[in-house]
This record gives sequence, C-alpha cells and structure tokens, in this order.
Amino acid sequence: MSSQQQSAQAVSLKSGSTGPLSDVDVSLKITEIFYSLQGEGLTAGLPSVFIRLTGCPLRCSYCDTAYAFSGGSVMSVSEILDQVAPHQTPHITVTGGEPLAQQACLPLLTALCDSGYQVSLETSGERDISPVDPRVVRVMDLKTPGSGEQHRNRIANIGQLKAADQVKFVICGREDYLWARQMIADHQLEKRCHLILSPAFGEVNPTDIASWILADHLPVRLQLQLHKSLWGDEPGR
Ligand code: SF4
Repeated sequence: MSSQQQSAQAVSLKSGSTGPLSDVDVSLKITEIFYSLQGEGLTAGLPSVFIRLTGCPLRCSYCDTAYAFSGGSVMSVSEILDQVAPHQTPHITVTGGEPLAQQACLPLLTALCDSGYQVSLETSGERDISPVDPRVVRVMDLKTPGSGEQHRNRIANIGQLKAADQVKFVICGREDYLWARQMIADHQLEKRCHLILSPAFGEVNPTDIASWILADHLPVRLQLQLHKSLWGDEPGR
C-alpha cells in the first residue's frame, strides 16, 4: 500500500469508515497506560508503552487481566497521545481486554501510527482484524481448547494475516499443543506469519512444550512471558 493510500485510509477512518465517529465516539475506556518491557512476541524485552483498553467479551480460563473487564477511565484519543508521549519510546502496544471490542480502537491505532509510533495490537482473534490500520502489527491469539473459548476464534481472520503479524497459541497442556499443531498444518500458518507457543503460566511445564516442538520440528517460537518472570502478576507491568 502506498503512503498516499495509507493516508487516505487514515482520513477515512477518522471520518467514520467503520461507522459514524463523532467527537464523542473517539473516546475510549482505558484501564491503564504504563511503561514497561514488552513481555511477549517478537519485540519481547524492548521498552514499550502499553495502552490497555477496558472490556472483553471472552473469559479465558487462564486470563490474568480480569481487572480490565470493567471500570476504566474515559479518554479521548488526544488525551491518550498526551499520556504516551512523555515515555519517549517508539514502541506502543495496544492491548486489553479485547481492544477491538471498542470501535474507537481503530482511529486510536491510526492516530498512533500517524504520530510515528511502531504499533502492535494484541487481540483475542474474536473480532474482525481486517479494518485495522495496515501499519499495525497484529498479535492475534488462536484460542486453544484449554482456554474454554475455542469456539470464539474467527477463522476468517487467518486469511487477513500478513507476514509481519504474529499468531499466538497459549498452551495449557498436551491436548492444546496437538490442537495447535493441527491448526498450523491445516492452515499452513508458518507461510503466513510468525508463530508463537506460550505456556499458560503454572499449568504446563515449558520444558515439555520445548521437547514436543523439537520432536515435531514445529516451525514455531517457544516464548515464556518475560514480564511474569520479572514481576509476577502485578498489574501495570
Ligand atoms: S481474551 Fe485476553 S483479556 Fe479476554 S478473557 Fe481471554 S485472556 Fe482475558
């Protein structure tokens, strides 16, 4: 996509291509904005600002951010940009909850890209990712059986993935691993984007997953959650 097309899309998002977005609509409910090290994905270890949007329609068995299901503060996109800027980092992660459950997440993502940030979006994969600004790296879950939310996977999203995107499987045990392996084979996911297997914290031995990956020559990256090793389940980390 040319820069001209990108800027045309940015304008159309701001003016309401995903529905009428008045000044009121471009406010979002925000649980927290904080500066930390990226704990997951290909940018793990890099200083980043995290914008955690409030609300999620899912209830995964291993969820560690239930505090983001409700509450939050209403903020405009410009107020969010003002809070992000002092941290002086080019890396922004928009997360949740499920960020795409709020329609105004789309113009927020575009505004962050327009401001020159490298933006990644962490999504459950339950919402349509096709309207997301193409400059954003999508880090999309495929919910395993152990999550209890497998039926929420929007399989059509797989066709929208681009090479810079990442698909993450949270693995609760051997059944989840076998399911992930089959999904990768069925959809040739390794040809679409980066693949990450992440052990559900405290539910499965990461060494076992490492052995399974090596035995199967599975084209994935095993990733432990860096922020949990450093800070446990402390919110805002
Ligand atoms: S999608 Fe994420 S925030 Fe929502 S319940 Fe699952 S783990 Fe929690």
